[in-house]
Amino acid sequence: MQFLDIIRYKCPKCKKNNIFNSKGNLFLLQIPKMNERCENCNYKYEIETGFFFGAMYVSYGLTVAEITIFSILSFFIFKASLLTTFLGVIVVSVLLSIKNYKLARTIWIYLFYKPT
Ligand SMILES: [Zn+2]
Repeated sequence: MQFLDIIRYKCPKCKKNNIFNSKGNLFLLQIPKMNERCENCNYKYEIETGFFFGAMYVSYGLTVAEITIFSILSFFIFKASLLTTFLGVIVVSVLLSIKNYKLARTIWIYLFYKPT
């Protein structure tokens, strides 16, 4: 299933190998490293130079969705103050930044993958 392959960061062609070869670490400021090609089927992830600039739009969308959900839960459901909600939004967006980075790139790869 496409959705499960995306959240597991699997190759869009063979769905066996991982797109990323390191997890990255937020607290050590390490960005996850991508494999250039799939080791199983040799699919090239970055199909052209600058391909992943477009993933920033996906990342933006994911972040806005997450902080909107968090804000609604915090402010309207749990009745937290506006300042607490605002600080929570900052914490949530920092904590989810690496997940968003990986997810945005994976979604972007899947958007432009054409099965042949
Ligand atoms: Zn593959």
